[in-house]
Amino acid sequence: MSPQNLTILAGSVSAFVSALLAVFAARRLKETKAALPLACLMVLNFIYAAAYTLEINSPSLEAALAWLRVEYLGVTFVPVLWFVFARAFVRGSKPMGYLQFALLVLVPLATVILLWTNEGHGLIARSFRLRADTSLTVLVADKGPWYWVSTVYLYILMLYGTITVLAQASRASGKFRGQLGVLTAAAILPWLGHGLLLAGASPQGLDLCPFLLAVSGGLFAWGVFNFSLFDLVPVARDIVVESMSDGVLVLDRKGRLVDINRAARSVMPLLAQAQVGDDIPGLLHQAGVELPQGPGRLDFCLSQEGDSRSYRATSLEIHGEVEARGRVVVLSDMTREKEILARLELLVSTDELTKVDNRRRFFEHARRELELAQRRASPLSFAMLDLDNFKIVNDSHGHAAGDAALVAVCGACREILRSTDILCRFGGEEFMIILPEAGPAAAFEIIERARRRIAETLILEGREAFTITASFGVTGSEGPPLASLEDYLRQADEAMYRAKSAGRNRTEVYKV
Ligand code: GH3
Ligand code: MG
Ligand code: MG
Repeated sequence: MSPQNLTILAGSVSAFVSALLAVFAARRLKETKAALPLACLMVLNFIYAAAYTLEINSPSLEAALAWLRVEYLGVTFVPVLWFVFARAFVRGSKPMGYLQFALLVLVPLATVILLWTNEGHGLIARSFRLRADTSLTVLVADKGPWYWVSTVYLYILMLYGTITVLAQASRASGKFRGQLGVLTAAAILPWLGHGLLLAGASPQGLDLCPFLLAVSGGLFAWGVFNFSLFDLVPVARDIVVESMSDGVLVLDRKGRLVDINRAARSVMPLLAQAQVGDDIPGLLHQAGVELPQGPGRLDFCLSQEGDSRSYRATSLEIHGEVEARGRVVVLSDMTREKEILARLELLVSTDELTKVDNRRRFFEHARRELELAQRRASPLSFAMLDLDNFKIVNDSHGHAAGDAALVAVCGACREILRSTDILCRFGGEEFMIILPEAGPAAAFEIIERARRRIAETLILEGREAFTITASFGVTGSEGPPLASLEDYLRQADEAMYRAKSAGRNRTEVYKV
């Protein structure tokens, strides 16, 4: 293939690919902010590649110079667009402002104007001639001062862009890192072309940049649209935060509201009208809630509009370079969880039938009361209650009547016992009573009254009416209790059995 045909083929392919990529990127502007600079970059390369191909295949020096002027309309702006593209690529960067952009294109604009008017001043090139060793019309310039200015400028922008992409690549992880590596290679490719040209090492003095840029463009497009994930992340986060059932508040260093999601307003009516800039810790302080200063968690109740709700506030710091820049407060409505928890606690600690505390709870009470009495050196007693002939009650009146009797016995006891005494169902028809601040003698008096009250309580179930009796065993200490809980339980049991043996419906006090 002749050099003409070869360059025409390569040039047409590059121009076509660039045009195609420009259209492709332009149609996907919404996906990522890097799409617009990429589309512009590819338009410029289309001009560059097409004009350059025509330039090296022109019939004369004059014709080549005419195409060179067209080519410069593209090539001079390539570094600027590469720079803008690289910046757009960095996560969290702001889109470039018009003024910044205008300043950036000053040098390339001057370059274009100077080239078009080169004959008058020779600032770009003092003279042009054609290379003798090739059948192509390859221009050789005796470069003027501005050529070097624009070349240095080009290198600065290209270098900055490449470093930016490289820095992003080093922060990226896993799969992204590999993709950014390819993008970096794509960024370096045009450098190679330019370097060869400057070093005079290019085949037949040809500028390979327009061809290499088309290849880079393809790689860029692939990378950019894969990487639009970076642009998706903030959008995805917004969606998550807005759809959360927990309230989310973003506060600045001074506690002023910066952002608030929908849930925060409905979770906490107090915040329904909150505006950006409002002093949130101050607002909560008025309601009696002190939000943690630093990171932390706070559970609190808030009465608003007539009903009380439980909340959990989790405060997280937003780190700045030196100090915290603010914080995120997540507000969870814990009312339902608290209710369920309270209900669960009740379920595991109370007896279903009689509603007095159960055996499990008895041990908690007993250990605490023992410890308290030991610490205060005060007396403490325990009484064990076992209903008399309860099997017979069940057999003759029915199981339901037995249940009613158990409830009635608890009622009778409660009428007599002091408010500080603790009644627990210990087993089937056995109960334990803890009597703080009472030695066995005082406990005996109280328990005797309870025993008499039980005996005189009429139990009504259906058409049946009957009474029952109970036997008690009492133990404890007149001074600070010295025995273990297990010992006191054994003593109470022993005394209770003595009461059974002595004829039932009696109270016996344990004797050593
Ligand atoms: P004693 O005077 O010697 O204690 O005789 P007792 O019949 O009470 O003998 P025991 O303590 O062995 O019997 C306990 C009975 O209590 C057996 C069981 O059917 C009955 N019981 C245990 N729990 C319940 C209950 O929740 N409801 C009813 N209705 N009966 C129960
Ligand atoms: Mg029993
Ligand atoms: Mg019994």
